[in-house]
Amino acid sequence: MKLKILVTAGDGIGPEVTGEAVAVLKEVAALKGHTLEFDYKRIGGIAITTDGTPLPQETLDAALASDAVLLGAVGGNEFNSLPPNKRPEAGLLAIRAALGGFANLRPAFAFKELTVNSPLKPEVIDGADILFVRELLGGLYFGAPRAWDKEKDEAYNTMRYTRDEVARVARIAFKLAQGRRKKLCSVDKANVLETSQLWRAVVNEVAAEFPDVAVEHQYVDAMAMHLMNRPRDFDVVLTENLFGDILSDESGVITGSLGMLPSATIGGKVNLYEPIHGSAPDIAGKGIANPCGAILTGALILRHSGGLEAEASAIETAVRKMLEQGYRTPDLVRGKDHGYTVLSTTEVGAKVREMVKELLA
Ligand code: NAD
Repeated sequence: MKLKILVTAGDGIGPEVTGEAVAVLKEVAALKGHTLEFDYKRIGGIAITTDGTPLPQETLDAALASDAVLLGAVGGNEFNSLPPNKRPEAGLLAIRAALGGFANLRPAFAFKELTVNSPLKPEVIDGADILFVRELLGGLYFGAPRAWDKEKDEAYNTMRYTRDEVARVARIAFKLAQGRRKKLCSVDKANVLETSQLWRAVVNEVAAEFPDVAVEHQYVDAMAMHLMNRPRDFDVVLTENLFGDILSDESGVITGSLGMLPSATIGGKVNLYEPIHGSAPDIAGKGIANPCGAILTGALILRHSGGLEAEASAIETAVRKMLEQGYRTPDLVRGKDHGYTVLSTTEVGAKVREMVKELLA
C-alpha cells in the first residue's frame, strides 16, 4: 500500500508531536512493507513569518496533490494582535474549506489508566468509547443570510440544511457504526427546529439502508446530560455542526486530557487529520508535549485513508500498552507521589514505537 502524506506541522508543539506521529507511521510502514511518502509544508504562524500568509499557495497545492494531510496545530501569542483573517488560525480554516471534508470524526474514549484524570467518576466513564460524527460544512456556521446590523442593533444567523448534506454525513456515520458496536444516536432539536425535523427524517431514511445498525434519536439538551451520566451507552453519535461542536468538547472530559485525542475530517477531496489540541505555546519547545493525540491521529490516517485497520488498531493498542506500563507525559500526572514514570515527548514516541514493533513484528 502506498500513501502520500503531507505534513503541515504548524506552530508551537505542532512540529514536536507530528514528528513523533510520523516516526510511528514510518515504523509501521517498515514492519508491514507499506510505502508512506512524507512531504512537509508550512502553515499558520510559521508561514506568516516566512511567506507572509498563513496558507501559502505551495502548501495548498501540495495538500490537494496528497492522499492525506497531517496537521499539527497553528497559533502563537505573537500573532494575537492581527485581525482574524490574517492570523494563523485563518490558514487552518482555509485549508479545511479547500479540502472540503464534511464529516468530522472525533472520538471520545476513556483510557482505563487515565480515568483518574477525568472529573467524572471512574465507574461512570470506564469503558466509554464514543465516535462523534459532526457535520462540518453546513448549519448555523455557514448559513446565509448572516449579519450584525449595528444600525438596527440586531444580529442574526441562519441554520440551513439540505437533504443531500444530511444524507451524505449520515451514510458515513452508519458505515462507521457498522464497523463498531452497530449503534447510532442521532442528535437534533426536532421538537423546535425545522432543520432538525428534516435532519431526523433523512437520518431515518438512510437508516433503512443499514438494517444492522440500531438507531436512536435524542434532543441535544437531553444528550448533553446523558453524555455525562451514561457515556458508555453511546457508540456513534451523529449530529449537525453547532451541536457537534458543543457535545464533542463536552465529551472531551471523558478522556481527561486534551493531549490524547485525535480527529479526522473526511468526505472531501483530501482527508485532513489533526490532534484536537492547539499549539500550546505555554509548553512549546520544552520537550514535554503529549504526542499521543498526534500518534493516534496517525492511526486514523491508516484507517480512513489507507484502509489499514490492523495497523491502525496496533497503534491504538500500543498507546494503551504504554499507559498500562505506567509511562506518562507530565500533563497526565497529578501531584508528586503518583508512581508513574514521567517521560519526554520523544521518549513517549519511542515507547509507542517499541510496542508497535512487538505487536506487528
Ligand atoms: P491548547 O490546546 O493549545 O492548550 C490548552 C492547554 O492544554 C495548555 O495548557 C496546553 O499546555 C495544554 N495542552 C494542549 N495540548 C497538549 C499536549 N499535546 N500535551 C500537553 N499539554 C497540552 O489551547 P489554547 O491554549 O486555547 O490555544 C493556544 C493556541 O493554539 C492559540 O493560538 C489557539 O488559537 C491555537 N489553537 C489551535 C488549534 C488548532 O490548530 N487546531 C486548536 C485550538 C487552539
